[in-house]
Amino acid sequence: MNRLQSLAKRQCATFDTSTEDRCLLDCQCVFFGQSGGRCRYFEEGVLPTDPKLERAYRIERGLADGKEDVCRKCSSPFERKSNRQIYCTGCGVEAARKARNKRARKYRESNALNGGK
Ligand SMILES: [Zn+2]
Repeated sequence: MNRLQSLAKRQCATFDTSTEDRCLLDCQCVFFGQSGGRCRYFEEGVLPTDPKLERAYRIERGLADGKEDVCRKCSSPFERKSNRQIYCTGCGVEAARKARNKRARKYRESNALNGGK
């Protein structure tokens, strides 16, 4: 049983616990089927109880929403604090430092051209 399945079994209110893999909505729980379907109820009501698994799930299925994004640099998920943010916190700091260094270098270079004042 994978982690999604055990979470569904343990936490999902629509899981029919008298069976091995059935949903009370009269179908097989999507996480136990072969098709790899999605379950809105599970995504919204159950998955958030396990944030780590939720991230893994969203990334695996390409579901990262506007709130959560994947770093363009290291591909790790992060919570976006502004619309312009494209890196996780760690990479963001690094990118800002590089940008600053680049500016400083340009500044020094242009100063050198002007006689080094
Ligand atoms: Zn990153």
